[in-house]
Amino acid sequence: MPADAHTHDAVYDLIIVGGGMVGASLAIALSGRGMRIAVIEAHLPGADTQPTYDDRGIALAYGTQRIFEALGVWSDIAQVAEPIREIHVSDRGHFGATRLRADEEGVPALGQVVTARALGGVLVRRVVDDPALDVIAPATVTDFVDEGGQVRVGIERGGVVDTLRCRLLVAADGGDSAIRASLDVPVVQWQYGQSAIVTNITPARPHHNVAYERFTDAGPVALLPMSEGRCAVVWTVRDEQRDDVLALDDTAFIDAFQRRFGFRLGRFQCVGRRAAYPLTLLRARESVRGRIAIIGNAAHTLHPIAGQGFNLGIRDVAALAEVVSDAHARGGDVGATGVLERYAQWRQAEQRNVSLATDGLVRLFTNPLGVVRLGRNLGLLAMELLPPARHVLARAAMGMLGRQPRLSRGVPLD
Ligand SMILES: Cc1cc2nc3c(=O)[nH]c(=O)nc-3n(C[C@H](O)[C@H](O)[C@H](O)COP(=O)(O)OP(=O)(O)OC[C@H]3O[C@@H](n4cnc5c(N)ncnc54)[C@H](O)[C@@H]3O)c2cc1C
Repeated sequence: MPADAHTHDAVYDLIIVGGGMVGASLAIALSGRGMRIAVIEAHLPGADTQPTYDDRGIALAYGTQRIFEALGVWSDIAQVAEPIREIHVSDRGHFGATRLRADEEGVPALGQVVTARALGGVLVRRVVDDPALDVIAPATVTDFVDEGGQVRVGIERGGVVDTLRCRLLVAADGGDSAIRASLDVPVVQWQYGQSAIVTNITPARPHHNVAYERFTDAGPVALLPMSEGRCAVVWTVRDEQRDDVLALDDTAFIDAFQRRFGFRLGRFQCVGRRAAYPLTLLRARESVRGRIAIIGNAAHTLHPIAGQGFNLGIRDVAALAEVVSDAHARGGDVGATGVLERYAQWRQAEQRNVSLATDGLVRLFTNPLGVVRLGRNLGLLAMELLPPARHVLARAAMGMLGRQPRLSRGVPLD
């Protein structure tokens, strides 16, 4: 062991690796229940350089809002969020379209849009200000060993090597999870050959809190209502077009996007900075191994078009927080096999279904074959004409299908 290495004798109940949206939410959910919890994050909290908390617009489903309400952070998030009262799904240039409306579902909003940066600001502040949480940052996990009764975790902080121990190690370390990789957890993964160009744009007409999901043969486009009349743009382009689109100046970008989206909101006036994200789908075949749980993007990374990635991740948080806090309240071991198996079984079906549905949607709507196009238009039309089918779609979009954890029902953990 090097001279500048330290070892802590105390054993944490939980070590959460990753202070992204998912890791931070889990820390908030489990704080104050008498557990020793550490959050290890590679970036300095609140630093502008933290790539997770950038300017992308995140659509939070109604179910996610309910969870944040139960965690006591919603009032802060609401200050920086814009409600979605209607979702308009259409196939550009064809007849099919369907609308999902908040009033038809009996909810004030189908979801809320917030920038990742603003959401991160609320969550990270809550974590950092909480004296019950040990935030170790900037620090990276370099290695770990599941020793049976506990996990030994090696970290590196400012050139100093340290060793921590815990009963349960939670990998919330994102899509490129080093923990998942070093466990050799098998994954289902493919690249779409597409990138999402993300920015915000101001249309001439007010958005009236309508979100648009528009499928085009060249890939899907989403426009989400934001504050000050702006809209968040997620424009999917083929990888070979990405650099050309990023190189466009503001005027040329607006023209190109206008051709893709059409004039439903009038002429677009001004546009913000653009960023590109390569699109992949990844689903880990196991979400627990020994005393280690894998959650959020580390367990499943989705195409952003359906706006489901974080919404799925926060339901992992609600379910894991429930099984862990129940085990702790009974005086049990929070990292015991039975506890983690309960979590894995609970989440398995939904993680698989949402991942398959998002992928199916992307493939269905990017298929230019006439017969497929006709089918999807009839499908959208049928949705419009059949309220029960639309209701099921709306409940899915709101993240309210399947068995709901207590936090999703607005019920506190104890
Ligand atoms: C363009 C785009 C649009 C999207 N839109 C939506 C949307 O509308 N709705 C929605 O629900 N989702 C959306 N998503 C998905 C959403 O952004 C992700 O699901 C979410 O950010 C995942 O959070 P996470 O905490 O699991 O992972 P991450 O955000 O990747 O966080 C992982 C964290 O772990 C840290 N870390 C990694 N390795 C280590 C280590 N070894 N040691 C210490 N720390 C480490 C990283 O620094 C990072 O902070 C979108 C994604 C994209 C790309």
